[in-house]
Amino acid sequence: MGVNYKADANILRNHHVMKTLPRTQFGNPILRAKAKSVPVGFLKTKEFKSLVRQMVFTMRRVGGVGLAAPQVGRSLALAVMEMRKTPMRPDLLHRGPIVIINPKILKYSQAAADDWEGCLSFTGARGVVPRAETILVRYTNETGKTITETAAGFWARIFQHEIDHLNGVVYVDRMKNMKSLTTLAELKRRMWQK
Ligand code: ZN
Repeated sequence: MGVNYKADANILRNHHVMKTLPRTQFGNPILRAKAKSVPVGFLKTKEFKSLVRQMVFTMRRVGGVGLAAPQVGRSLALAVMEMRKTPMRPDLLHRGPIVIINPKILKYSQAAADDWEGCLSFTGARGVVPRAETILVRYTNETGKTITETAAGFWARIFQHEIDHLNGVVYVDRMKNMKSLTTLAELKRRMWQK
């Protein structure tokens, strides 16, 4: 909270059209590996800036709210996140985009909530996942600054989902009831039937 996203957002703007990066799909061993810690020096490279720009572009283009480097074939402890309202979730506030580098969750609230999650590495699927309501998270941003943030609600859920990716964990591992696993099309059909 209280983080000024705009001040550090210059590399997060897309100045020209890019290609979306292909997303690794479940079954790919990179999604099960612990991602390598990002050295501070990497943040100064063109490779880093280009990777982050392409990840933000890809996340937006495919309608995701988060994308971790292993999902684009890079075993690096970094992810991009941007929360915004969607037809399924008109209540969400706009947060981000942010880059989280070498993130760590320092505290989890006892209170947890169940909600639907999807993943760009499980195209077309949704499942109910329990997550802590509030977390205290620490990460390095794209300028090398250490940020300590309290996140709550769906924003906290995105952090937990993306940080799991950096530890080789995917959302289906966190599901308590596999019977909720569904395609997005089926979920929409059920919601609109009511
Ligand atoms: Zn995911």
